[in-house]
Amino acid sequence: MNATAPQSNRQFRLARRPVGMPTRDDWQQATEPVPPLPAGGVQVRTLALSLDPAMRGWMNEGKSYIPPVAIGKVMRAGGIGVVVASKNAAFALGQQVSAGLGVQEYVRIGAAEAQRFGLFAIDPRLGTTTQWLNVLGMPGMTGYFGLTDVGRPQAGETLVVSGAAGAVGQTVGQLAKIKGLKVVGIAGGPAKCDWVVRELGFDACIDYKAGAVRDGLKQHAPDGVDIYFDNVGGEILDAVLARIRRKARIVICGAISQYNNTTPVQGPKNYLSLLVNRARMEGMVVFDYADRYPVAVAELAGYLKDGRMKSREDVAEGGVAAFPETLARLFSGENFGKLVLQVARE
Ligand code: NAP
Repeated sequence: MNATAPQSNRQFRLARRPVGMPTRDDWQQATEPVPPLPAGGVQVRTLALSLDPAMRGWMNEGKSYIPPVAIGKVMRAGGIGVVVASKNAAFALGQQVSAGLGVQEYVRIGAAEAQRFGLFAIDPRLGTTTQWLNVLGMPGMTGYFGLTDVGRPQAGETLVVSGAAGAVGQTVGQLAKIKGLKVVGIAGGPAKCDWVVRELGFDACIDYKAGAVRDGLKQHAPDGVDIYFDNVGGEILDAVLARIRRKARIVICGAISQYNNTTPVQGPKNYLSLLVNRARMEGMVVFDYADRYPVAVAELAGYLKDGRMKSREDVAEGGVAAFPETLARLFSGENFGKLVLQVARE
């Protein structure tokens, strides 16, 4: 079956490894013909791409939790698309799917490649297309398993989360409130801080751009911090380490303040606080929990439906051509909510 016959596929390929903040010269914009559909495969038209801080790490050479994007290859990206041609009985024309689509307008996924692409049909009854890239997608899964499995929250405890108004942060803070914790966010600027308190129900928010995080923690977490969900690393991690309670858990989810460094990553100066407080600091990678995503999706979709959880996406227009400039917004804090690049509409 074939609904449309696309002629060309615009895409972004990695031209070279960036130093510091990526620039347009780090990318090669290419246009290719769309190749024919293989037996048993599907052709997906990209609707929306997830732009993630992790993309910066995937551009670097060297060992990580997944291999870097090779020079000359289409940039890795998760996204939601629509099936426009199918020779696979499991995927019908017009069905929306989630997959590692890459920064391009079309992708073909052969019968044997479905698992490698993480291809699955999304259930539109559970959430909108962009919610499937946010609370019900990779960031939501990160927040859910980082909090439940690594943070191990107990009602009555105090949780601090940085990047509070971002994709992961919004899920973490709201889920922690649902589980009966006191929640203090850390975010850049009054608009983001107001939103997490007034709209999402956090107990307080520290604007790290307006004053010392240390002072904000003294004010809003006077008895100390039981769980710190770290999305930013750097000086903010040190400030929270200085305020942890005995048996605290620090979830090392990310360190966006360090991703564009041209000098070595800033390590925590206050790590001996872990010793004094018999505390634990543990890294997590969301993909390790893939076999349990359906459980998390069901729970989080329930909260979206009953109104206990909200989901904010920042949807950028401009299609694939706008990819480099849109990605950069993550590192200046210009995104407000989960950053999504709209590539096409149905
Ligand atoms: P996001 O929070 O939606 O967007 C990034 C935000 O980071 C920006 O809006 C900005 O918010 C903040 N930021 C940027 N530069 C900063 C700096 N120098 N210092 C402090 N904050 C800064 O992004 P996300 O997708 O939810 O990702 C959040 C973190 O989780 C990232 O570190 C990411 O790498 C990590 N992550 C990890 C996993 C995993 O499996 N371990 C999975 C997904 C994401 P402000 O305006 O508040 O500064």
